[in-house]
Amino acid sequence: MANTDVGLQAIRDVLGDGGYVDTQPGLDAYQIEWRGLWTGHCELFAKPNTTEQVSRILAICNSHGIPVVPQGGNTGLVGGGVPNGGIVLTTQRLNRIREIDTVNFTLACDAGCVLATIQAEAEANDRLFPLSLGAEGSCQIGGNLSTNAGGVQVL
Ligand SMILES: Cc1cc2nc3c(=O)[nH]c(=O)nc-3n(C[C@H](O)[C@H](O)[C@H](O)COP(=O)(O)OP(=O)(O)OC[C@H]3O[C@@H](n4cnc5c(N)ncnc54)[C@H](O)[C@@H]3O)c2cc1C
Repeated sequence: MANTDVGLQAIRDVLGDGGYVDTQPGLDAYQIEWRGLWTGHCELFAKPNTTEQVSRILAICNSHGIPVVPQGGNTGLVGGGVPNGGIVLTTQRLNRIREIDTVNFTLACDAGCVLATIQAEAEANDRLFPLSLGAEGSCQIGGNLSTNAGGVQVL
């Protein structure tokens, strides 16, 4: 087996059934930019649900030379989440709000939390999470941070 194939099998073993997609047409949803402007390709769509799985997958990719494209809500407008080989690693199952501290006005959560969920959690605790943008029902906080999304308050 080629080095890449060995690595991909190791990733499947880490994730188990239901933790990845590696067949067509299932992969298309993650390879094609949502407006259809760009079409990429990847070997596997990885859906880890713990940070330990993320860590193990990245170690495998590193040692087998497999490129990794992170994907959040896939609402980006410049094609950054479109893969060009390797794997897509989605944060869609890393979506836990871990802690809200109303005294210090902080909220700790996983990268895959949808922005609107975070806003709602803040509001339920009588606080405001001020980042707001048109994609807030789909985009994730990891994607917001990685793109430095400013939202409507910036305009
Ligand atoms: C209707 C609409 C309105 C928008 N309004 C604004 C706006 O007002 N202001 C603004 O700045 N932008 C805006 N955007 C673009 C905005 O950047 C994205 O919607 C959002 O921030 C991306 O989040 P996402 O989870 O969808 O990321 P994705 O699209 O999945 O990914 C975007 C990039 O971040 C990377 N990435 C994603 N998650 C991670 C992670 N956990 N770690 C490392 N890298 C990661 C991806 O590889 C990709 O390069 C808008 C988009 C839409 C569709």
